[in-house]
Amino acid sequence: MDPVIIVGAGPVGLALSLALAAQSVPSVVLDEGPGKEEPRPARSVVLRADMAAMVERLGCTTLRDEGVRWVGWRGMRRRQVVRHLALDLGLGGTEEWSEDPAAPATPAAPLHIPQHALARGLRDAIARQKLIRLVTDARLDTVEQDRDGVVAHTRGPAGTWWRGSHLVGCDGARSTVRKLLGIRFPGRTAVERHAVAALRTELPWPGEALLHRQPPWRGAADEITARPLPDGVWRIDWLLPPRGDLVTPDALIARIRETLAGWCEGTTPPYELIDTGVHTLHHRLARRWRVDRVLLAGDAAHLLGAVGTQGLDEGFRDVDNLAWKLAHTWHHGGSDRLLDSYQSERRAAVAHRLRAADQSLPVLRGGGGLRTYLPGATRGHDALLTDGHVGRGPLGAPPAYPHSPLAPPYTGGRTPVGTPEGAPVEDVRVTAPDGTTVRLRDRLGQGRFLVLLIAPGTGVWDRRHWRGAGVMPRLDEAVRALPAKAEVLVTEAYPGAPAHAVLLVRPDGHLVAAFAGVHPAELYAAADAARGGTTEATAPTGPAAGRKRPGPGRALEAGSGVGSDTGSGVGSDTGSAVGPAVGTTTGSTIGSDTGADSRSVVGPDTGTDSGADSGADRRSSTGSDTGSAVGPDRASDSGSAVGPSSASDTGSAVGPNSVSGSGSESGSGVGAESGPAVGSAVEVSTGSDRTADIH
Ligand SMILES: Cc1cc2nc3c(=O)[nH]c(=O)nc-3n(C[C@H](O)[C@H](O)[C@H](O)COP(=O)(O)OP(=O)(O)OC[C@H]3O[C@@H](n4cnc5c(N)ncnc54)[C@H](O)[C@@H]3O)c2cc1C
Repeated sequence: MDPVIIVGAGPVGLALSLALAAQSVPSVVLDEGPGKEEPRPARSVVLRADMAAMVERLGCTTLRDEGVRWVGWRGMRRRQVVRHLALDLGLGGTEEWSEDPAAPATPAAPLHIPQHALARGLRDAIARQKLIRLVTDARLDTVEQDRDGVVAHTRGPAGTWWRGSHLVGCDGARSTVRKLLGIRFPGRTAVERHAVAALRTELPWPGEALLHRQPPWRGAADEITARPLPDGVWRIDWLLPPRGDLVTPDALIARIRETLAGWCEGTTPPYELIDTGVHTLHHRLARRWRVDRVLLAGDAAHLLGAVGTQGLDEGFRDVDNLAWKLAHTWHHGGSDRLLDSYQSERRAAVAHRLRAADQSLPVLRGGGGLRTYLPGATRGHDALLTDGHVGRGPLGAPPAYPHSPLAPPYTGGRTPVGTPEGAPVEDVRVTAPDGTTVRLRDRLGQGRFLVLLIAPGTGVWDRRHWRGAGVMPRLDEAVRALPAKAEVLVTEAYPGAPAHAVLLVRPDGHLVAAFAGVHPAELYAAADAARGGTTEATAPTGPAAGRKRPGPGRALEAGSGVGSDTGSGVGSDTGSAVGPAVGTTTGSTIGSDTGADSRSVVGPDTGTDSGADSGADRRSSTGSDTGSAVGPDRASDSGSAVGPSSASDTGSAVGPNSVSGSGSESGSGVGAESGPAVGSAVEVSTGSDRTADIH
């Protein structure tokens, strides 16, 4: 079987390759870059506890060494502290967590790390992996797919072609894969912009993150965040006005000095400025995330980040959701429904997040908004923002997939537990088959379902014999008969679950169903639904479906293997008979804008997508916030943000659809950018993504 081709060695592509390797699936990661990360402390990312745990499971050690978990969250308005939360470090593994499963949840501490350190940790983990081949200086140019697989053509020194079982575009905001698929990427440009600085100093709340609204000093931004990084470094973000202003180096230094003085009783403390940047936040959502064997993940599929939402966190959620489905398909030829569920679950979850942010923004930033009408609403605003930043509520909580196509039909043996079906399960302490006590989270991401028995008193069982106790033999037998691999675990208690309840949990930690006792037939039916039902061949639906691949691709299938233990064929660099003959094959070459993107996948978005794909993506999007990535709940998307241009935005927010993916989107402004470190000239002009850099 051919490996999975991953386009893009950003954090999402690297994590996906590791998640697939953890499930014995080989991959080739193609990246147009040289494979080195420039240290950029101002480009840091926040991961919620569950995603930080997932990344650690993948073998990334830099989270521990170069990341920081916030010990608390502080909200200030004007001169007052309006909110102060202690954050729970337990889920991060640095402290003991509560033995009492009913203990009230202190929000789990998010983790903050420079993106270059995160990427380095992922690359180091990949270097220890035989199943992953990382190819640098390889720009994807064209993709073809047929009934059995995909072919990716690359340009550059390593220009050749690669045969894979599937291809996942993790190639960032300006995704070539997305453009080759002709998928629209509607939404809003420059929803928010922040001037960013990374600096070393001492602030009065070590280890805590701060959101300060309407600070009282002259000329301050409306909102400032300060988030700790290791070694006394802080990332500080100043919300910039929507358009117009320049941020010169002098203006930035003045902001830094007055902010630090404002926080430190009027005197600017000593500080060392390490890096600066501008983070321009766009809100966009790709219309489709899957076209047959080609899928999108990370920034290629969605952009978000305003009011505490976290783009990379969502990218890792894509990885978590997709990896086990792709692995199941790769090993067992999973059903179409299984891979389709990636798009329906993840796209709906991100759409929900974007909708929550879209609805919050006018209230929070609208110069009064609800405050005008509702007494106490300002306090509500602080709570909303706090939730977004610490990972609670619609802006931040881990998503549930209640309307998943993988949800099993209701059966009589079910019991309600504290976790709704489709939501992520709690990270309770469990006894593993070898008798050791571990966290449930440690057993995730290995391609198998978990079957969790709630058995009070197991703490006193003889660990050596626990599999023979009580209902265990019956449960063991039922689990052995399941249509997908599963592991039995036991726990003393689970929130809201009666004794002897049995929970079926997906490999990504979402609850499939809970049963009142051992019900083998129902457990089987639930596992079958959750793996997408009966296996069918995954056949392309495009116009070239079923056509035969040309000779060279076949030759390539016999090429060298990725990882000696798989023997799977990955295009060897010598097999480049087809090299430049891009697009001449008779397979289904992706790139033509087929206009097939006629459906809206987000649940309540029932309208038709009447905007012509071809036209819409070519129009310049402008930062006029007239549209929405998810659109109004019932309306057609015909008028969404890829609307006609307005004077202020010189760059096209979404580059033209390109068949060759030749990089012609030079004016494309999607994505955040950061500039080099201090000392250099700074010019930030608003209203245009292209000029919103600090140089
Ligand atoms: C200053 C700044 C601050 C930020 N702060 C935050 C934050 O606080 N929280 C947060 O979540 N996010 C933040 N971001 C955004 C975050 O960096 C992105 O969300 C993240 O990089 C997305 O990861 P990705 O892997 O999806 O894509 P990317 O990191 O963009 O990686 C895409 C990869 O694909 C490769 N590629 C592209 N096209 C091709 C092609 N045709 N062929 C081969 N390879 C290709 C590129 O070389 C690149 O390596 C910030 C960004 C900036 C600039």
